[in-house]
Amino acid sequence: MAQTIISVKNLRKKYGDFEAVKGISFDVQEGEIFGLLGPNGAGKSTTLEIIETLRSKTSGEVWVDGFNLDTAPNEVKKVIGVQLQASGYYPGLTLVELIHLFAGLYNEKVNPLQLLDTVNLRDKAKSKFKELSGGQKQRFSIATTLINHPKIIFLDEPTTGLDPQARRNLWDLIRDIRSKGTTVIITTHYMDEAEVLCDRVAIIDSGNIIALATPDQLIDELVATGFERPKEVKQANLEDVFINLTGKHLREE
Ligand code: ADP
Ligand code: MG
Repeated sequence: MAQTIISVKNLRKKYGDFEAVKGISFDVQEGEIFGLLGPNGAGKSTTLEIIETLRSKTSGEVWVDGFNLDTAPNEVKKVIGVQLQASGYYPGLTLVELIHLFAGLYNEKVNPLQLLDTVNLRDKAKSKFKELSGGQKQRFSIATTLINHPKIIFLDEPTTGLDPQARRNLWDLIRDIRSKGTTVIITTHYMDEAEVLCDRVAIIDSGNIIALATPDQLIDELVATGFERPKEVKQANLEDVFINLTGKHLREE
């Protein structure tokens, strides 16, 4: 039986008079890739950042690995890995220097090259952050979430703006991290990505969770209502054409 590692109960967040998160509840199971989907402004980042202890909540309760967010925020911080926005990195430092910097903040001893290996960036060890491609920056920022050996990592739109090859490469990396037992919570605007990557997804709209199940279950439920795609589906799509023509190997490496 899967264990619950995150439990959110009736979570609300108000910014002034505006309620961005309207009393949502969900559980995340240990070892799953859990997707938070929804249009811009739905409340995804707000929800993630509250769980990450980076934002205050208005009401509701959150438990992370058995620790209550209100009474044991420091315990919560110890078991989670948080991704910084790209602007959070000193652009002129090398990857090894940045890893030493973060390791110092976490009070952890790390082997930078070993860590870079896990995200396939060992050959960029002496490169500056600003010299990396978009996909490499994302991989590096995922590496930094792993410094404190977290049980859970949070990835907020990690593949936004990446080309199809880099996106697929990141899926492999995320699966790899999960296969080592780490729970992953991810937000994305790409439904194809959520479908192949996520064990379960919550769809959030205007601060409410309007669906929560496996991608398969949600698709089956829609089909059961009599929904049909307007056109006969082709055996491939334009992204298949693109990958077929340009190959799966990463660019800008
Ligand atoms: P998402 O990540 O799903 O796009 P957010 O959680 O970033 O959504 O934002 C949810 C809503 O809350 C949006 O309407 C946004 O404009 C608003 N919001 C987010 N942060 C703030 C803030 N610091 N002050 C006021 N409103 C905010
Ligand atoms: Mg967001």
